Amino acid sequence: MIDKYAVIGNPIVHSKSPQIHEAFAKQTNQDISYKTVLAPLDDFEGTVRDLIIQGYKGANVTVPFKFEAYKICNSLSARAVSSGSGAVNTLKFLNGGKVYGDNTDGVGLRNDIVQNLNFSIANKHILILGAGGAAHGILNSLLGASSIMIANRTHERALELVMGIQDFEARASTFELLDRPYDLIINATSAGLTDTALPIPNIIFGENCLAYEMMYGRETPFMAQARANGAQVADGLGMLVEQAAEAFYIWRGVRPQTAPVIAKLHNA
Ligand code: NDP
Repeated sequence: MIDKYAVIGNPIVHSKSPQIHEAFAKQTNQDISYKTVLAPLDDFEGTVRDLIIQGYKGANVTVPFKFEAYKICNSLSARAVSSGSGAVNTLKFLNGGKVYGDNTDGVGLRNDIVQNLNFSIANKHILILGAGGAAHGILNSLLGASSIMIANRTHERALELVMGIQDFEARASTFELLDRPYDLIINATSAGLTDTALPIPNIIFGENCLAYEMMYGRETPFMAQARANGAQVADGLGMLVEQAAEAFYIWRGVRPQTAPVIAKLHNA
């Protein structure tokens, strides 16, 4: 029987995950199906239980359910625990209705930046814009950086995030108070969804800076500002494919090639 997987979210109709996992399955000769599941906002757990009853083997989880997903797990990967994010994006359904959770967003981002974009994180000064779920999930993957600054619209949330960091020098700021250049800037806000420009000064785009927009699918004001200031610019499509590849590996034990899938999605 074919092994069934899904991505659960709300909204979910625009998800590219089915396309990505179908491409991985074809490439690696895995016999799987993968579909989108719209969960009601007040019944994520019921939706997961239903999938388990239907014999599903696992699921990806997207906005707004990553924190709820963490809470229903019976066991968690070491990185899901150590990230301290309290969020997972990958569920594996085990025997007896047990649920294992992992968070592949961080490794997805790192693989895209280091392997696909050929940009070394080591000893770099990094600025993260945003302090929501995505910012939480990626922090662990930035080990080796020289320093991390987290700037957020709501300063208290940036402060809270910084307090949880033990492995690097980290500080919190507002957008307006940023006053120095950075080597890598990651936009982990959702401001691009509404085409909102962040009140960030041009000085933050350092020499040879990589400006990484976690959103994908359109040019955001952040990307336009970064380009105008001479930064190398990337969107989050590569991260999306890389985090999916890690989830696929967790489920199937096989690592798909990501480059052809990223290229196909970029061309589309
Ligand atoms: P959250 O809702 O958890 O956090 C949103 C963040 O954006 C908060 O820091 C919030 O600030 C900030 N924000 C929202 N609107 C504005 C605005 N108008 N101006 C300034 N700041 C704003 O979302 P997530 O962290 O889950 O997701 C953030 C982004 O990352 C999304 O665009 C998502 O698509 C993307 N993402 C991409 C992935 C990929 O694979 N490429 C994976 C995961 C996420 P405040 O605290 O003040 O409210």
